[in-house]
Amino acid sequence: MPERVAENVYIFSSETYAQLNAGAVVGPEWSVIIDTLIYPEETKGIRDFVEGRLGSPVRYLINTHYHFDHTLGNCWFPNATILSTKLCRELLDTRGRKALEISKEQNKELRDVKIVLPNVVFEVGSISIRVGKQTLTTIMLPGHSPDGIGVLIEEDRVLFAGDAMMAVPTILDGDIEQLEESLKRIPALKPENVVQGHGDVILRGEVGRVVDDDIRYLAYIKRHAKKALRRRDPEGYLASLDIEETGMSRILLNGSAPELHKRNLLTQYHKLKAEQ
Ligand SMILES: [Zn+2]
Repeated sequence: MPERVAENVYIFSSETYAQLNAGAVVGPEWSVIIDTLIYPEETKGIRDFVEGRLGSPVRYLINTHYHFDHTLGNCWFPNATILSTKLCRELLDTRGRKALEISKEQNKELRDVKIVLPNVVFEVGSISIRVGKQTLTTIMLPGHSPDGIGVLIEEDRVLFAGDAMMAVPTILDGDIEQLEESLKRIPALKPENVVQGHGDVILRGEVGRVVDDDIRYLAYIKRHAKKALRRRDPEGYLASLDIEETGMSRILLNGSAPELHKRNLLTQYHKLKAEQ
């Protein structure tokens, strides 16, 4: 069952995949979905709840970024208009397709899914959608990936942050400085709730502290990636850095925290090395 965070605003969380979240804003005549879940049954569960149970057809689906854990469910909403940045569409068509091919070999549950590209894109600024009495506005939040956006429900101050906020901040194919800039913008939006791409919902009183912790964590990644450049065995050095040293728990995101931590360190290290 979804969690309700404001009137007509619901959050759907994956039971199995890294505390992945998607959302729905349900209007009187039609609804907007923000991201999808990775497995077909989970995304169909969103559709059945919104269209079946609440009787509101999904007219729009917003992709916060191209990573396929958030976009694979596009194919289960054939009647919806799918919105994203132009960059998100391009990356889904290239990197996303490639990543899905690899994952399909490893994961039978993804056998039937196919990539469906957004059909309305925007390049700069933001777009707004009015759903009943609520206004959804997109906000550029790159860094985890180059194309990240968030969606703010203006009246209720609910921010769907996409993967700009995760229980473990993660730079997959993004940029650490960009992610820091995006994080710094979030408290100024005065959110009542922040729905992270992965992890628990953050309440108003905690947003500032969580953002500070995230920025401190990214500073740790930068510092140690830089240190590794001077080591004889840089990758060995990075592998020796346990996530718990940063104050974060290993069990976050269904246990994928140590793996994400390792990838953060390696991504930043390889970026610095390439710049040398
Ligand atoms: Zn994700």
